[in-house]
Amino acid sequence: MSEHKTPGRHKTLDDFREQIDACVKCGACQAQCAVYKSLKRESTVARGKVAIAEALLDKQTPVDERFVLDMSQCLLCGSCQDKCPNLVPTDEIVMAARREIAERQGLSTFGKALTGVIKRPKLMNLLAKSGGRLEKLIFRKVPDHSGLRLRFPVPFIAKDRYMPEITPKPFRERLPEYVPARNDNDSKPLSAFFTGCMINFTYPQIGEALVKIFRFLDLPLWIPANQGCCGLPAHAAGDAATVDLLADTNVNAFATRDVDTVITACASCNAGIGKHYRAMEDQYADLGNQVEDVLVFFVRQGLVEKLRALPQADTSTRVAYHDPCHLRTQGITAEPRALLQATPGVEFVEMEGADRCCGLGGTFSVYHYDTSRSIGARKADGIANSGAELVASACPGCIMQLQDSINHADLKQRACHVLELIAQALPAQDNE
Ligand code: SF4
Ligand code: SF4
Repeated sequence: MSEHKTPGRHKTLDDFREQIDACVKCGACQAQCAVYKSLKRESTVARGKVAIAEALLDKQTPVDERFVLDMSQCLLCGSCQDKCPNLVPTDEIVMAARREIAERQGLSTFGKALTGVIKRPKLMNLLAKSGGRLEKLIFRKVPDHSGLRLRFPVPFIAKDRYMPEITPKPFRERLPEYVPARNDNDSKPLSAFFTGCMINFTYPQIGEALVKIFRFLDLPLWIPANQGCCGLPAHAAGDAATVDLLADTNVNAFATRDVDTVITACASCNAGIGKHYRAMEDQYADLGNQVEDVLVFFVRQGLVEKLRALPQADTSTRVAYHDPCHLRTQGITAEPRALLQATPGVEFVEMEGADRCCGLGGTFSVYHYDTSRSIGARKADGIANSGAELVASACPGCIMQLQDSINHADLKQRACHVLELIAQALPAQDNE
């Protein structure tokens, strides 16, 4: 019997029977699926995956190598549901299938390695710090780009993949837990910042940009020290027990203060502790209901108007925007664009395929890097054709994948977070 049991908080494949039956095999999902566009196989598209899941439920197919492969070939982007007449949640069905696989066969080697680390925040910190020290031995700097490539093969990571540098000082160690407003008082709404692993360990500048904007808006910010990973990588690996463990860590970390909002600056984390916690019970759903993407929060706080009131810049940079799937599928597309359009020094340009998945899909890009690259190549075409000098996004994972695609296409553009561009446009603050 497997050591990985699916706890009751998570739906089993059988719980999705009704949604699986709702698939009328119309094929409207085909045009939405980036994986299908690259591989052109029925098993890669939502309709095929739903049919395979149904076959397992009806005991017409075993959990064999083919089944495992088919279920791994999904970005969990949710794009298929957008155009599905019956709103079949294929990403959730695939995740339930992966839990079923993990329960019957145990986790994959990579899944074990990944979730073994993310469920231990202290170990993650230690590994990041020692990894940072070894970085020069393991990686070489990519010329003309901020980023790294492996010097020699390392398990699970493609050798020519762009990797962001690991910071020697994680973001959460750079600041006190409570960052007061400039004119601090108890009447101001308090936000808690769920940083996520990538901002903490590889893109601390995104977190620092967020803090600068909070100071500009004169709002206090709480950054709970004991928070953990959002659990999305564990969801993708089918490891329900690790999702639950991390959910407990996060609920405890955020329970010590009353806050108005829990903000995220990573679209994946927003899904990890927002959408997924809302589907859980009690205190997990309560935390999930407080979660808001920081760009939506900033629009609510009047940042668009405040940016428009700043002096215009002498020069401007053409910037395109890539929609992270985890925000786009929640309808969050207007706020990042409104902020970019209002930012002095930014000339916003729309790019073709902005709403298409970048091809990362978490563990997908590890198992299927060639497919991930071919999806990324289409994204790079859109960036090149837009004439933009920068492509901004709202998810560190997308930013990593966009930069990888840009590098492989030999383009000069750079990928960054919307927050970095806004922070750059703000006047210098007392503590700078
Ligand atoms: S669009 Fe929806 S109903 Fe139509 S085939 Fe795809 S999953 Fe099934
Ligand atoms: S979730 Fe994304 S990758 Fe998976 S089947 Fe749907 S569109 Fe394709």
